[in-house]
Amino acid sequence: MELSYSTDPNWCSRCKHLPCRCGALKKKPAPTAGSGPIKLRLEKKRGKAQIIVCETGMNDAQLKELLKQIQAACGTGGCVKDGNLEIQGDHREKIEQILAARGLKSKRSGG
Ligand SMILES: [Zn+2]
Repeated sequence: MELSYSTDPNWCSRCKHLPCRCGALKKKPAPTAGSGPIKLRLEKKRGKAQIIVCETGMNDAQLKELLKQIQAACGTGGCVKDGNLEIQGDHREKIEQILAARGLKSKRSGG
């Protein structure tokens, strides 16, 4: 008699074992260090929105280069501050697109 665990995500249809014994369901390798999502934090400064791009894991040169691209895409001002980017205005959508195009994940936080 064969038990069916087909609703269990760990059930392997190849070796029919729970948990899998053949390695077909082996966990995907953990993402490399520093590849966690970049945080896009919305802040209000004197009534104006600005986005703080933090936890990028980038050095200053990389940040400046990214800042340039964001400024050009959003037509807005910004600066590198304390290892983060400060972008004037709520341009999270554009910033997300730019990061995604580089294969970087981002996550919104704050209002
Ligand atoms: Zn298996």
